[in-house]
Amino acid sequence: MGSTFFRKLPTPLEIKTMYPVPEAVAQKKKENDEELRKIFTGESDKFAVIIGPCSADNQEAVEDYVGRLAKVQEQVKDKLFIVPRVYTNKPRTTGKGYKGMLHQPDPEKKPDLLQGLITIRQMFLKIMEETGFPLADEMLYPENTRYFSDCLSYVAIGARSVENQQHRLTASGLEIPVGMKNPTSGDLSIMMNSIEAAQSAHSFLYRGWEVQTEGNDLAHAILRGAVNQYGQCIPNYHYEDMVNLYDLYLKKGFANPAVVIDCNHSNSNKKYMEQIRIAKEIMHNRKNSEELKKFVKGLMIESYIVGGSQKVDEHCYGKSITDPCIGWEDTEKLLYTIAEQV
Ligand code: PEP
Ligand code: MN
Repeated sequence: MGSTFFRKLPTPLEIKTMYPVPEAVAQKKKENDEELRKIFTGESDKFAVIIGPCSADNQEAVEDYVGRLAKVQEQVKDKLFIVPRVYTNKPRTTGKGYKGMLHQPDPEKKPDLLQGLITIRQMFLKIMEETGFPLADEMLYPENTRYFSDCLSYVAIGARSVENQQHRLTASGLEIPVGMKNPTSGDLSIMMNSIEAAQSAHSFLYRGWEVQTEGNDLAHAILRGAVNQYGQCIPNYHYEDMVNLYDLYLKKGFANPAVVIDCNHSNSNKKYMEQIRIAKEIMHNRKNSEELKKFVKGLMIESYIVGGSQKVDEHCYGKSITDPCIGWEDTEKLLYTIAEQV
C-alpha cells in the first residue's frame, strides 16, 4: 500500500545538459518546425504524414525503420512532409501492460524510468542527427514535456487525455503543432474545448513553478474514430465527418483550422490493413472540396517493419507489441500513393 519515493530523477535541464542537442541538429529542428508551422497555417500546401509504430519499443528497430522512411522522404519531398511517430509513452486502457520506453527501455525487464529517460534522449538525438527528421510523440504525462521539448516537433494528446486540464494548459505553452484527439466516446465538443483551451493563454502550477503561457495557435483536431456504448467502433474519417468538423471550426472561429486524420485505432477498428484504404479515401475526398483540401493537413498512420502485432515475448524484429501496424513494403507503397494524390 502507499507510494515509495525511492529515487529522485534529474530535472529536464539536467538531462538536457547531459545529452545536449548539437548546434547543427538544433538548427535543423528549427527549420523543420518552421516548415510544419507553414503547413498548419496554410502557407505551405505540403501534406504532413505522421507515421511510425504504435510504440517505439526497440531502439534498433525504430532507427532502422526511420532510416527507411528517410529514403522515401527524399523522393517525395515536394509533396509530403513526413514526421516519424516515435512514441515513447503508451496509455493503456486498463492501466496494465507495456507502458512504453520511458517505463521500460527493455520491454521484458522491470521498469527503470531513469534509464528510460536516457534511452529516449539518445534515440531521439541519433534519429535527428542521422536523418534530419522532425519527431512526433504523445504527451501522456504533461510534467515530462520538458525532458524532450528540444527534440519534438509534433505532439498529440491522446483520446484518454484530451479532457484533462493539465494537458490542455501544458499544450498552450508549446510552440509546435499539438493535435487534440477526439475522446474515445467520439464527443467532438470535448476535442473542440481542448483546442480552445490550448489556443488560449493561461497561468497555472507546473513542476513547482507558477507558469504563464501565451496560447498555442497550432493546436488542432485529430479524428481517430470512436467507440459506442456496445463497444463497437464508429469511424469518423468520412467526407461528412470532415465537413461537419469544418463547420464546427467555422462557428468557433479558432486560429488555423486544421485536422489530421488517424487511420488506425477506432477508425480502422485496429484492422491495420484498412489504413491503406482509409488513407486513399481521405486523399480522394480532399480533392472534392477546395475547403477540405486546405483543412485536412495530414494523416496519422501506424506502420513498422513487419505488419501486424505480437506479444512482448515473441521477439519478431520490427513488429509492434502494442497496436497492429502495416509493414514496411505496404508503407512504402502507400507513401508514394499519398504523394501522388496530394
Ligand atoms: C496511439 O496513437 O497509439 C494511441 C494510443 O492513440 P489514441 O489516444 O487515439 O487511442
Ligand atoms: Mn496505437
